[in-house]
Amino acid sequence: MIAFGPVPSRRLGRSLGINNIPPKSCTYSCVYCQVGPTAMTETTPRAFYPPEEILRSVAQRLEALARRGEGVDWLTLVPDGEPTLDANLGAIIDLLRPLGIPIAVITNSSLLWRAEVRAALLRADWLSVKVDATDPEVWRRINRPDSILQLDTILAGIARLAADYRGTLTSETMLVAGLNDGQESIGAVADFLSTIQPSVAYLAAPTRPPAEPRVRPPNEAALARAYQSLSARLPRVEYLIAYEGDDFGSTGRVEDDILAVAAVHPLREEALRALLAKSGAEWTTVKRLLSAGALRLVEYDGHRFYTRRVPISVPVAMVGAAASPR
Ligand code: SF4
Repeated sequence: MIAFGPVPSRRLGRSLGINNIPPKSCTYSCVYCQVGPTAMTETTPRAFYPPEEILRSVAQRLEALARRGEGVDWLTLVPDGEPTLDANLGAIIDLLRPLGIPIAVITNSSLLWRAEVRAALLRADWLSVKVDATDPEVWRRINRPDSILQLDTILAGIARLAADYRGTLTSETMLVAGLNDGQESIGAVADFLSTIQPSVAYLAAPTRPPAEPRVRPPNEAALARAYQSLSARLPRVEYLIAYEGDDFGSTGRVEDDILAVAAVHPLREEALRALLAKSGAEWTTVKRLLSAGALRLVEYDGHRFYTRRVPISVPVAMVGAAASPR
């Protein structure tokens, strides 16, 4: 499903998600990815869905939501992969523009060294750029990038985009215990972010089941240290670690709604029950999806999550080498 949600977003309110690429085309295979490992990373932008198909899917979803009196605050290109791998990204943003809803893109930043990618992103109203590490070794361990990528050119690309961008630029740093939550690593990230001056620098932690079960969020002391470190250099720093709530949009086709959201966003049990209640459906719907193998139950950090099965595998050597905590 191309358009999904809206999902409650801690940054963007009610955000209609747009999957502009299929699962899971990505330049990275982050240890904390909630969609699972990337089987084969890639770095050359190419065409996926025709832009007109994306517009049609978004417009149909908005109409179905409007019939139920449900509003949307943002259209967000946040696929279960890297949105800038789509060579049509700029054209898609232009096609969506007449819908009159602001457009956001959440990117892992890895292709910002490419001029055409920066040109496409300049069209968005709101951008989130990922900066988990500025040390190449830490970056390789946490983001597990495609082998052709170079961190110094990526950081230079982010700086170049920040200089030209006229919308709202934010950054996101995902902190993983034992990987990038040390003082040296976070201090270096803070130094880099101070050069691009994001409107808000978000600090995230894995709050949903990650690709690698060993991945854990930092403890409170490490989170507080990271916050202090960034706050000393940046005007506004916020955590992205609170539960985002249960206000998932419903179009009335409850199984479709559940599967579309669960494909990119593991659903906490409370949120799933709220979504069922909105559609007048019973828990038996979830049991049916579980027994059909369409959904799976994962326990993480004391909560029960329901996530879509994504049949993806990754070479064992890659997981073992890259996921080991420092
Ligand atoms: S977290 Fe994002 S950037 Fe990292 S592997 Fe998953 S989809 Fe790709």
